Amino acid sequence: MIDFRSDTVTRPSAAMRQCMSLAEVGDDVYGDDPTVNALEARVADLLGQEAAMLVPSGTQSNLIALLTHCGRGDEYIVGQQYHTYLYESGGAASLGSIVPQPIAVSADGSLDLALVAAHIKPKDMHFARSRLLSLENTHLGKVISPVYLKQAIALAKQHGLSTHLDGARVMNAAVAQGVAVGSITQDFDTVSLCCSKGLGAPVGSLLCGSSAFIQEARRWRKMVGGGMRQSGILAAAINYALDHHVDRLAQDHEHAALLQAQLSELAELKVESAHTNMLYVSFASADTAHAAASYLREQGILIASGQRVRMVTHLDIARADVLNLVQSLKTFFKAQR
Ligand SMILES: *Cc1c(COP(=O)(O)O)cnc(C)c1O
Repeated sequence: MIDFRSDTVTRPSAAMRQCMSLAEVGDDVYGDDPTVNALEARVADLLGQEAAMLVPSGTQSNLIALLTHCGRGDEYIVGQQYHTYLYESGGAASLGSIVPQPIAVSADGSLDLALVAAHIKPKDMHFARSRLLSLENTHLGKVISPVYLKQAIALAKQHGLSTHLDGARVMNAAVAQGVAVGSITQDFDTVSLCCSKGLGAPVGSLLCGSSAFIQEARRWRKMVGGGMRQSGILAAAINYALDHHVDRLAQDHEHAALLQAQLSELAELKVESAHTNMLYVSFASADTAHAAASYLREQGILIASGQRVRMVTHLDIARADVLNLVQSLKTFFKAQR
């Protein structure tokens, strides 16, 4: 199947599996896994941070960041549509007694800084303690402006707030902008990077921050059950991904742009601008969308369900697959007329 639902569907390649099978391992809870230790040092360096910690998922990475930054009754300011608020099952509140202060996300994926400032609470016992500003880059595929990020960090600092970047797809942002990823991430107190998305590793995220922060975060990782043993097997896959799958993200971005250009020619679809590796496309009705998805499935193509559909390009999508999707949709609409 050609799968446009998400960039999480990629499978480890033969070469990646080979690296995994050859990985030197130890018990990482004891700090004994040399492949994990090397990966953590590599990623910290890459992101311009002092230290890093390998965790099973991006959700756990963000949760541990929140648990480490904020105590019971502390507040984090976050986008209403950001992953750390909307898509993590309410973990920060339910497991950490951390109060979310969600703010509507602007069209460009950022948070209006005047709104952020207005939601920072005075130091008064009536309020939760504003402790952290949590941003996201990329957001729904959109690259956040570096000038904005600097301003946001400055605002947070001015009010004594720490900053966290959910950089699940920050490598896509770096490649799209043609900059070193560290230039985007180094000024945040903490950064989370997902390796099981566009980078194509099977499992794993890294939480990065100061050495003291990561030392404390290791305690939370153990508590939430993220302490893994011979996880060098996973670190080896991520190492491989960092060697071979970063620059090629540019191809995914080209493929998303190609998909946008080609689908824009179909009158039956409302096509939004492609950003990095994501394109949003709306069908005229939920019924049409459902029929299209069923037809595509018969052609060996998977798309998400819903009237407004996210289409994602990745490692396992070639240019021919993009053209195949376009052609299949053309055929589908022709039969509908
Ligand atoms: C995918 C994603 C995460 C983490 O998700 P997991 O599935 O838990 O790895 C975090 N933030 C964003 C923006 C994401 O897209």
